[in-house]
Amino acid sequence: MKCYDAIVVGAGLIGSAIAVELARNDLRVALFDSQEPGGEASWASAGILSPAPENPGMISMVAIGKASLAMYPEFVAQVEELSGVATGFRAKGTIEALFSRHAREELNTIVALHRGLGLNAEAISAKEAREVEPVLSEEVEAAVLRPEEASVDNRLLAKALIEAGRRSRVEIHAGAAVEAIWRERLQCRGVVVRGEKIATKHTVVAAGSFSSQIAGVEEYAPVRPAKGQMVSLRCEAARIERVLWSERIYAVPRNDGRILCGATLEHVGFDKSVTAGGVHANLDAAIELAPILAKARVEEAWAGLRPDTPDHLPILGPTDIEGLLIATGHFRSGVLLTPITAKLIGDLVAGKTPSVDWEKFSPMRFQAAKATAKVSGTPR
Ligand SMILES: Cc1cc2nc3c(=O)[nH]c(=O)nc-3n(C[C@H](O)[C@H](O)[C@H](O)COP(=O)(O)OP(=O)(O)OC[C@H]3O[C@@H](n4cnc5c(N)ncnc54)[C@H](O)[C@@H]3O)c2cc1C
Repeated sequence: MKCYDAIVVGAGLIGSAIAVELARNDLRVALFDSQEPGGEASWASAGILSPAPENPGMISMVAIGKASLAMYPEFVAQVEELSGVATGFRAKGTIEALFSRHAREELNTIVALHRGLGLNAEAISAKEAREVEPVLSEEVEAAVLRPEEASVDNRLLAKALIEAGRRSRVEIHAGAAVEAIWRERLQCRGVVVRGEKIATKHTVVAAGSFSSQIAGVEEYAPVRPAKGQMVSLRCEAARIERVLWSERIYAVPRNDGRILCGATLEHVGFDKSVTAGGVHANLDAAIELAPILAKARVEEAWAGLRPDTPDHLPILGPTDIEGLLIATGHFRSGVLLTPITAKLIGDLVAGKTPSVDWEKFSPMRFQAAKATAKVSGTPR
């Protein structure tokens, strides 16, 4: 029987970064993916690195988001050195453009909220915003500059992490779906692949939106897919330096000249089709934000599945099954949270006290919610 120190299930950004981290800690690691590594959400993403909360529910993620963003420069430098693959990391800041007639009041609220959360945000006028990003619409009324935010080319980062894993002696098994965890009583002894048991001390499930399909994992990782459609444009007349946002869209410049615009948010199961409505919504909002993009060539349109959870927060850490850890449910922030997730899981596997407060993201929170519902008789 094959035997490893650690098995990681899922070779997206999260799983491959964890595998690299564990290998750097001198463990013998196997990484399994049901398809080619890095081909799901980690391929489809926009790669924005922003810890700013999109809504009040996301406020509890700001601290780990900030910590992860701070890790990024060193993280990409290490991955690039290990792999020899450039990741397209751009630490150029982001600008959120406000269109409404009440932009001034909105601006003050947003900036106060951000500063209250320890995020660096500056209120700038529409004129100042257009001076640094001339593509912005004349209709923009005011803007927020977040100078510390960044972006990375997630497809390149996924490729780099897989190569870094290979060069760190991670055994990568592509096209090998993990069907179930191999559980004996309260212990996880490994995984089952094509009916064969593979032994390990530590099993880390990082299979994104598909995690809940692995037998034995559902109750710890109740993820569901949240589809996002994206479109990639090329426009020689439009020079964009920073990530630009409006309420309806973001536009993310890549080093190779592409401008990625997205994304829709749809709960339609595992359907990844690109629809006319999705493309229309993205293009309409992108042209509203930067009218020059009406002249852009459409290069590619695609869709991906964000791993969403009941409370939209990630699921990180050990379970009550010895040797089973979960690292999924990163929803809209998995690229941002890749370095901190790898570090956290690395620390937990090594028996070290993690430097981040992760317990609110514990996989055990769903069991606690179920138990409370049972006691109070709340229908589920
Ligand atoms: C359109 C879109 C835009 C986004 N924009 C951003 C953004 O700007 N910033 C940001 O931070 N995040 C963004 N996200 C979210 C981010 O992409 C995800 O949170 C992140 O990629 C999740 O990574 P993952 O490794 O957990 O999942 P995935 O990348 O989905 O990887 C999971 C892997 O597990 C494999 N797998 C599945 N089942 C099994 C099995 N049974 N056995 C073995 N392997 C299995 C899959 O093949 C896959 O390779 C976006 C997502 C989408 C879709």
